[in-house]
Amino acid sequence: MAQFRLQNVEDFYEIGVELGSGHFGQVRELRERACGTCWAGKFVKLRRSVSSRLGVERKSVEHEVEILQSLQHVNIMALRDVFESRAEIVLVVELIRGGELFDFIAAKENLMENEAIDFLKQILKGVGFMHSKQIAHFDLKPENIMLSDKNAEHPEIKIIDFGLAHRFNTGEEYKSLCGTPQYIAPEVINYELLSVATDMWSIGVITYILLSGISPFQGETDEETLRNIVDMKYDFDEHYFSQTSDMAKDFIEKLLIKDQSERMTAEESLLHPWIKPLTRKQAANRSRSSINMKSFKKFNARRKWKMSYNMVWACNRLCRLQLLCKTAKEDEELRSCESDQEDTGMKPASLIRRRLSSSS
Ligand code: ATP
Repeated sequence: MAQFRLQNVEDFYEIGVELGSGHFGQVRELRERACGTCWAGKFVKLRRSVSSRLGVERKSVEHEVEILQSLQHVNIMALRDVFESRAEIVLVVELIRGGELFDFIAAKENLMENEAIDFLKQILKGVGFMHSKQIAHFDLKPENIMLSDKNAEHPEIKIIDFGLAHRFNTGEEYKSLCGTPQYIAPEVINYELLSVATDMWSIGVITYILLSGISPFQGETDEETLRNIVDMKYDFDEHYFSQTSDMAKDFIEKLLIKDQSERMTAEESLLHPWIKPLTRKQAANRSRSSINMKSFKKFNARRKWKMSYNMVWACNRLCRLQLLCKTAKEDEELRSCESDQEDTGMKPASLIRRRLSSSS
């Protein structure tokens, strides 16, 4: 069992504003008392008993910590320290001030393909590093791709949220039903063996959205989206892709491939001529083609709306649950823990994050 610092995090860090929240609890700004350096603290409420539906199992947090410890890369959120108390674990991580990449792009007037490629390259480098350590992220999506500082001349990409990540041991077979419908690969839906190539599918989907502002497999319902993925039902509608270069489409096509072994690896992607042009003509094509900003802005606004809707939905649900709670102690747990959502009823797509895994 991993040993974390059994001291009070507040003795070392002043706890500041909330930066975000997720299934596990909250992320808050931390200020190191000794030197004033700012960090982010991921406060994870621990599950009290096996039967409890609140909080996260210690084993899952240990797993995320162990993965983060082995991933030191400029494009991956760095872990600094871990504190543990009876009720919660606090991960002290690098503070990422620049917000989500998609929000940064949506705030622009326009963006040429070569500018988008600068970001994509960094995502591929971070993911390539992970994959070189046999670690797959399994939840790559716009919400988990952030920027260190959006005012910098060349903002740095930071990949976050390793809650679903997995390290493949030699010869290990791993299956899991996890992720977010829009971004998951066919092998996840079919409950087949997964590999690091599963992440490359998600990068294909993210690139498709980035260029066109539409999601390749999006259906009216989650079920339809999942069916479209399994049936490989996608195309490059001229209405959305008229400004896109052929090389960009080729890049996407080489990632959205059903057979995992045929999909480009992160390393190969970095060498694709759209990312690393071999001729002047190829380079010129990228700087002439632009992303479909009007459509992208719409996609991002809808995405943000859905995220706030999900948040309100989760809060309402928590309030209803709170009313059912008998003790003030339970109240306290619920207020700061979002990990108790039921898998039943109308559930927005981005909240579906199933964890049914098996490995041998
Ligand atoms: P989800 O419920 O979306 O799967 P999660 O519960 O695993 O997420 P994270 O994605 O790690 O939680 O963090 C939740 C939110 O907190 C992020 O979407 C982001 O807005 C914010 N956040 C996370 N890490 C940092 C950081 N290092 N610096 C600044 N903000 C952060």
